[in-house]
Amino acid sequence: MIKNSKNYKDEYTNYYFKVFGEPQLVLKSLRESIAVDVDNNEYIDLLGAIAVNTLGGAHDELADEIAKQAKNVMHTSNFFTTTSQIELAKKLLFIADFPTNSRVFLTNSGTESVECALKIIKKYANTSKKPRILALTNSFHGRTLGALSLTYKEKYRTPFAPLIPDVEFIEAGNLQSLEDAFTTRRCEEDGEIAGLFVEIIQGEAGVINLSKDYIQRARELTIQNNALLVVDEVQTGVGRTGSWFAFQDTGIQPDVITVAKGLAGGFPIGAVIANPQAAEILLPGEHGTTFGGNPLAASAALKVIEVIERDNLLENARKIYTCVVHHYEGTGRRTRGKGALMAIEVKNERSLDVAKLVLQPKSAEKERGVIVNPVNNSWIRIAPALNIELDLLEKGLIKLDEAFKECEDEQY
Ligand code: PLP
Repeated sequence: MIKNSKNYKDEYTNYYFKVFGEPQLVLKSLRESIAVDVDNNEYIDLLGAIAVNTLGGAHDELADEIAKQAKNVMHTSNFFTTTSQIELAKKLLFIADFPTNSRVFLTNSGTESVECALKIIKKYANTSKKPRILALTNSFHGRTLGALSLTYKEKYRTPFAPLIPDVEFIEAGNLQSLEDAFTTRRCEEDGEIAGLFVEIIQGEAGVINLSKDYIQRARELTIQNNALLVVDEVQTGVGRTGSWFAFQDTGIQPDVITVAKGLAGGFPIGAVIANPQAAEILLPGEHGTTFGGNPLAASAALKVIEVIERDNLLENARKIYTCVVHHYEGTGRRTRGKGALMAIEVKNERSLDVAKLVLQPKSAEKERGVIVNPVNNSWIRIAPALNIELDLLEKGLIKLDEAFKECEDEQY
């Protein structure tokens, strides 16, 4: 029997943990920005696996690099290293433009990068006797218990309480609550602040840009209070916003940044980049990982960075932004975000319906569906590959508009 999408979905539903719900598609291939499912339906991919597939779903040069490295040395223990790990650390420090003597730690994922950054802050909190750690409302920093302690959504947190107790959420973007957090105590016992975690664009919250003023004030207050500033660049980093990292457009220098998602274009890897003072905090033996940034992942990341540089993909990310903004100019439909991380407004809270509808390929007309993400009720998120052809992006947006029209006008 030849299995179709429905058969595979049923099997998935029977065998897999229930955490993701039923998969929307069973993919057979995803080359560049065209996905094909097991029933041979095609889709324009405007989501890039949520800001991960930097060079599209499959990229020949990246695949060749991974194959070459796999035949050479795939993995070593931490007693050894390989040239790709050293080169990647150097390259990351260079593109992030961190000060001399800054350092890198390689991980497998976003949440592990945040976990490592949090251990830096926790240790600093303990040694400096500054117990408080700040995070922002609507933040998303990951699902492991440490990173979850910094993640705002109650639905994600409550079943796993108690989490790390010293984390305090302050209202994202609100200058007054930022000032208050540094100048007032919630109770007698409250001490000072060890660190603050921010995303420059809150991706999971709906692609919400925090203002330059806010980020700059956060930097000033953390410096004045000897607190560390961690910028979570897991979603925004490695070219996604049209710069190597989103903080680079704000005029500040963070103490630590966390990176993952797009770094190796779909191969699992993460990184923590820390300035000399922050990097010194973790001593030998105080952190580690078996697989983090192994030679295979490191060489994939180096190739992704090389292709971004060679093919001017930072510029392409900026063109993606311009294309989306122009497309909706004068339509009354708002857009937000930066570079190739954007959200498009949906009226009447119909974003789930829009995303579902636009995904349907109209097979009679051999039309493609479009992959987007209803990041919340009123916004559709897109995060396409940085090398997507602008014509294809435009085609996807036109189909999205049809879905907007159909869903938003519908009487219900
Ligand atoms: N931090 C941010 C800003 C993210 O957007 C995400 C994932 O969406 C994470 C951390 C967690 O990354 P991962 O899913 O790789 O653990």
